[in-house]
Amino acid sequence: MNFNRAVIKVGSALVAPSKTGCSGQYILAIAQFITKCHQQGKEVILVSSGGVAAGRTVIRHGSPELSPSVKKAMSSVGQMKMMANWQRFFDIPCSQILITQDDLEDRERYISIRDTIQIQLENGIIPIVNENDTVTTEDLKVGDNDNLSALVAQVCEADSLFILSDIDGVFTKDPNIHDDAVLIPIIDEITDEIYAMAGTSRNHLSTGGMKTKIEAAEKATEHGINTYILNGTKSEVFSSLIRQINPGTRFSADKNTIRAKKHWLKHTVKSHGRITLDKGAVNALLNKGASLLPIGIKSVARSFDVGDCVDLVDQQTKTIIAKGITQYSNKELKRIKGKHSDEIKLILGHEEGDVVIHRDDMVILEQNVEVKPAKVAPKNSEEKGTKTNAPI
Ligand code: GLU
Repeated sequence: MNFNRAVIKVGSALVAPSKTGCSGQYILAIAQFITKCHQQGKEVILVSSGGVAAGRTVIRHGSPELSPSVKKAMSSVGQMKMMANWQRFFDIPCSQILITQDDLEDRERYISIRDTIQIQLENGIIPIVNENDTVTTEDLKVGDNDNLSALVAQVCEADSLFILSDIDGVFTKDPNIHDDAVLIPIIDEITDEIYAMAGTSRNHLSTGGMKTKIEAAEKATEHGINTYILNGTKSEVFSSLIRQINPGTRFSADKNTIRAKKHWLKHTVKSHGRITLDKGAVNALLNKGASLLPIGIKSVARSFDVGDCVDLVDQQTKTIIAKGITQYSNKELKRIKGKHSDEIKLILGHEEGDVVIHRDDMVILEQNVEVKPAKVAPKNSEEKGTKTNAPI
């Protein structure tokens, strides 16, 4: 299988094929596939629907059209059933992560979600994500788990997104009506025509349809994530994936977006401060692809906040070797510099994670820039394109 870290989205049609309660009918094959991925050292984050369907058995409801409050009540009771249903097919521990659109828009909460998932993956746990339906309002919800899975794939920097439902992929026409409809194996560009092909096919139990799946593919591929729409009711789909055969529709990731992120960091974001690093940290960053830990920090200059871009300076050569987005302010870093990560909480009373700058939030400069004394950049000045070879 050609991925290292994947988000697998499992729709209600697979969790609750009879539209109520939870079933193992399709979940078993999916869990076996995920277990195989794990055995091959791959990381998987699940986004699972099915809370509402699972809770349907215990909440009284009248018409088939459920009100939002009834759905919320169902999802809150069904979530536990759905999680228990997953866990019974795994020997691997699972965790539950419930999030809303609002959580993903708030930078601190975003980092918190990202770090939680990262630590769980490092510990071989399968995070299982769903929207926190009980607390969502129209304004604050993602609304469907297809789009949610694309956002989760971005948060945890997955390289692939597998959207599993009961349809084979994207067809040239609606296959339920047209016999001559043909499955499209690869989509390199998502155009209006592709949306038109998606039609309005819907599973009335879940919130999404083909349209939301394509929206999700658009979001994910823009962030460099290959996205697949696959039929999770067919066990041969998983054996094909294992043999590196695409059994559905693949939306190709836009390779340029990964480059664009690094380019943005390198050329557009203005640095608000400077962190000077010891020899060990410089070596770890330049030669080992590591993140920056507080232990390697010798000194901190200028005033900056969490989320600001800072220059990373080699203490020996006095050159800027990298730029990155910091998870701690200058004041906090002054207190934790030179310390082990496990001391952060004790010293600050809180922690934003073990690393000061995550590798994914950092760009190494090919040509190191000499550090010259310069005027302090105004903290809230406009972010104009600052070339790294400009005097700082
Ligand atoms: N969060 C919903 C549930 O757990 C699913 C939404 C969707 O299927 O897109 O039932």
